[in-house]
Amino acid sequence: MKTYKHIFFDLDNTIWDFDKNSREALFEIYHKHNLSELGVSDPNFFIEKYKERNEMMWEQYRLGTIDKLTLRDKRFALTFWDMGLDAELAPTALADDYLSISPRKTILFPHAHEVLTYLSAKYTLHVITNGFEEAQGIKMQESKLLPYFQEVIISEHTGFRKPEQGIFDYAMNKTGASSGDSIMIGDGLEVDILGARKVGWDTIYFNPEKKSHQEEVTHEIHTLFELLHIL
Ligand SMILES: [Mg+2]
Repeated sequence: MKTYKHIFFDLDNTIWDFDKNSREALFEIYHKHNLSELGVSDPNFFIEKYKERNEMMWEQYRLGTIDKLTLRDKRFALTFWDMGLDAELAPTALADDYLSISPRKTILFPHAHEVLTYLSAKYTLHVITNGFEEAQGIKMQESKLLPYFQEVIISEHTGFRKPEQGIFDYAMNKTGASSGDSIMIGDGLEVDILGARKVGWDTIYFNPEKKSHQEEVTHEIHTLFELLHIL
């Protein structure tokens, strides 16, 4: 068993409950902009279609086929299109409002603060995240997560995105960590787990929905609380 010094956390859907926070923000903008009057009669349908479109565009962004501005500005118009409506009906303020409301939501996975308090007393903690710099900074600030972490490594700032090796090398340089004393905790089998394994780190797969998979992981957990028994 390795002796860990550095624990690297993914942020979205590992500590910060992206799905719940995003849902709350989408409900809020749905009502604020009276989307029912524009022909979107069911907010759940709007949220479901937005989610599909957003995931598709994030994948395009990861592959480099669209840029950040296209992702940000077009996802709502295209969601309207996906709902069978005229894309031009989508209020242009949806994009900005979502961006300002969503990162200010503060729903974390159960036991997050308790577990981070325990771990930060024993290890040096860091975040490695693929999100955008402004949004991730606001999330950490508003959810009162900053005090637990020494380094917050954001893909946009490093020029690499998980699972690219560059971001893990950057993290080791920045923190003084080595592959022998590092462990990565994340909900993304490909971005977090495979990426970290490629640079020789141990891994903890956070799998709250208990999805089945074939990946090789050092540990698997379904709640953050289980970290207290592992680390
Ligand atoms: Mg994640």
